[in-house]
Amino acid sequence: LQRTFIMVKPDGVKRGLIGEIVKRFEQKGFQLLKAELMVIEKEKAELHYMEHKEKPFFGELVDFITSGPVFAMVWEGENIIQVSRLMIGSTSPESAAPGTIRGDFANSKQENIVHGSDSIVSAEREIANLFEPLLTR
Ligand code: ATP
Repeated sequence: LQRTFIMVKPDGVKRGLIGEIVKRFEQKGFQLLKAELMVIEKEKAELHYMEHKEKPFFGELVDFITSGPVFAMVWEGENIIQVSRLMIGSTSPESAAPGTIRGDFANSKQENIVHGSDSIVSAEREIANLFEPLLTR
């Protein structure tokens, strides 16, 4: 079984979408291992998005992700990294399919409701960056 890091971003928390997003992952049959409402420190936000540090939108992205509480979660399930990315949908509003979280709720390339790790390596890195070591299992 794989583990991944899923996070409701500040825009999703402000819009009251935590329950909706948790519900979709539960309905899919995935297991919630850990969850916390937290405000991410600037240094941790920069580490989380380090692959984008040369991009023109990096500063804005760090400001956005630290602008209010996020709902950070660890989920477990079969092929969860690939499946959760499908459930989340594309980054751009014009290509996020209806039925995906972003397709149904997001209308901005930056404020797009939810994050999901894109590989086993980034899932481990992102979980270690934002959570103490898991005590479950
Ligand atoms: P995430 O990593 O958050 O799940 P993603 O993998 O779909 O999203 P990435 O290309 O890794 O997208 O970008 C990470 C995040 O950076 C996006 O979710 C979005 O919030 C922001 N971002 C990406 N491209 C842009 C852009 N052109 N302008 C502003 N913000 C952007």
